[in-house]
Amino acid sequence: MATAVCLRNVIRFKGFTRYRVSVTNNHAFSTVVQRSNLFSIITSKPTDILGRIKGDTEYDLIVIGGGSGGLACAKEAAGLGAKVAVLDYVTPTPIGTKWGLGGTCVNVGCIPKKLMHQAALLGEAVHDAQKYGWELPEASTIKHNWESLREAVQNHIKSVNWVTRVELRDKKVEYINGLGSFKDPHTIETVTKQGQRLLTGKYILIAVGGRPRYPDIPGAVEYGITSDDIFSLDSPPGKTLIVGAGYIGLECAGFLNGLGYEATVMVRSVPLRGFDQQMAGIIAESMELKGIKFLNKCLPTSVKKQDNGRLLISWKNNQNEEFSDVFDTILFAIGRKALTQELLLDNAGVKLSEDGDKLDCLNEQTNIPHIYAVGDVLYRKPELTPVAIQAGKLLAKRLFANSQEVMDYDNVATTIFTPMEYGTVGLSEEVAIQRHGEENIETYHAYYKPTEFFIPQRSIVHCYIKVVALRTGDQQILGMHFVGPQAGEVIQGFAAAMKCNITFKQLSNTVGIHPTTAEEFTRINITKRSGKDPNPQSCCS
Ligand code: FAD
Ligand code: NAP
Repeated sequence: MATAVCLRNVIRFKGFTRYRVSVTNNHAFSTVVQRSNLFSIITSKPTDILGRIKGDTEYDLIVIGGGSGGLACAKEAAGLGAKVAVLDYVTPTPIGTKWGLGGTCVNVGCIPKKLMHQAALLGEAVHDAQKYGWELPEASTIKHNWESLREAVQNHIKSVNWVTRVELRDKKVEYINGLGSFKDPHTIETVTKQGQRLLTGKYILIAVGGRPRYPDIPGAVEYGITSDDIFSLDSPPGKTLIVGAGYIGLECAGFLNGLGYEATVMVRSVPLRGFDQQMAGIIAESMELKGIKFLNKCLPTSVKKQDNGRLLISWKNNQNEEFSDVFDTILFAIGRKALTQELLLDNAGVKLSEDGDKLDCLNEQTNIPHIYAVGDVLYRKPELTPVAIQAGKLLAKRLFANSQEVMDYDNVATTIFTPMEYGTVGLSEEVAIQRHGEENIETYHAYYKPTEFFIPQRSIVHCYIKVVALRTGDQQILGMHFVGPQAGEVIQGFAAAMKCNITFKQLSNTVGIHPTTAEEFTRINITKRSGKDPNPQSCCS
């Protein structure tokens, strides 16, 4: 490979000429001095653009943010021989909650959420167990202990934090517990317990994720909490208002209700906006049936703390009518802001997306060629852990292993862990119709009853599947939707089939596994267009 040397600046002084040179595509600088025809290199170590001698703080890759995306990229890059540093720092929440290395998913996201969801499901299973012959104490005397659950969840998180640190050490990734910001396009400044550090990197990865937003109303920040606090609350949350009906709002309402706390969801527009609205409606209905209340088309206006410590929240509906009620906990789940402000991006010339705080990247590359971004900080990309991980790994391979493979953000499967789970991959029915026209779309659907629901006589109203396909030829499948138990486990396999462009014909030719809920997809045959009853006729029809 040919190597070119670039002349970066020239200083003439008393018969000497000092040249500062760099090797193309390598951002290390060296100083060369010429006297007459004699050239000599006066710095044994290369210097940076500011003339600082580079030494131990010179990295192939500096990752800002030790969450799902940043860690995946850092570990992959180190495995490919790159010298990598990861900076991770958690600013405490307004009520002082903080956590360790690993980012949102491990500490205040997917993992504690799934564990609390499981705790709630077990509560239901305990009641089912009696119908299966287990001799248990009187159902009403079975109580849940918040402190025990919190401790178990937090202990698990701490063990993951520890394993993550060990893994970084084993892979020779340098972990720096400090808040990083740009000093210039190649220099990251951070303050650690040991003092200020400047690190220079050939490539920089921004993987800072996001944090929950609070509404701009009096008392929200002082008295409200968010998903950053709920999983480590010292005392039981009690009667809780959840503001927001997206993923986080519905999942939190689901497990809190399942653990025995009164839960109310305040909805600004509709639950799960952006998802298939028929499925979202089924989820909301199933939650209502379990006792979760919904305040539709409402917005909070203020939160006040009463003398007895409880919280008085006021809100308005879309008719401008005012209401108020008292809760023990108010949890805001109104979306998340990307943590880009603290990065001082201007110092590096990195531009934000036009309408906000995110980075609008092509193949994870920002407008500055050596600065990349992955994960929740990306504009208009799914905010999901496996998306951040996959993008991070692929990026490392492109940077350090000459790979050409880019991230495919299409048909990413996801599951909402509400009490009745909702797993989905591909298009919603409404988007499929919008894109292809109603006359070109065939929607198959069915209610089904999982075998395990028969003995406890659980309702089937909310176990429902839907397959959205093109009408022509073998009918390519555009979207698959599953509401029922273990929805994530079910939809994951079908997501692989969707990646292979599965058709409805192939789905129908697939032999099911009996008796499972996933096999319902292989049995589905009633089109919405036919107007036939989608309720199950028998378990084996
Ligand atoms: P993060 O994981 O957020 O990591 C970023 C890290 O960078 C953080 O540790 C942050 O403190 C640190 N940081 C920020 N700024 C700086 C700085 N300047 N210097 C140093 N460090 C900095 N996804 C799923 O796929 N499945 C789920 O079930 C799921 N459940 C979720 C439940 C909840 C309650 C929440 C909040 C999220 C959930 N998610 C889920 C989303 C998932 O957690 C995120 O998509 C994922 O964590 C994003 O990874 P990331 O690497 O972009 O950022
Ligand atoms: P979200 O899904 O965007 O939902 C935000 C909710 O808050 C919406 O219902 C929104 O209503 C409402 N809202 C917004 N601003 C409001 C305001 N000022 N006042 C009242 N309500 C307001 O965000 P999220 O639930 O915080 O989740 C963030 C991301 O985390 C998700 O996009 C998801 O990718 C990820 N996540 C994934 C999982 C999973 O994989 N299971 C779980 C949790 C989180 P409108 O609809 O009217 O805007």
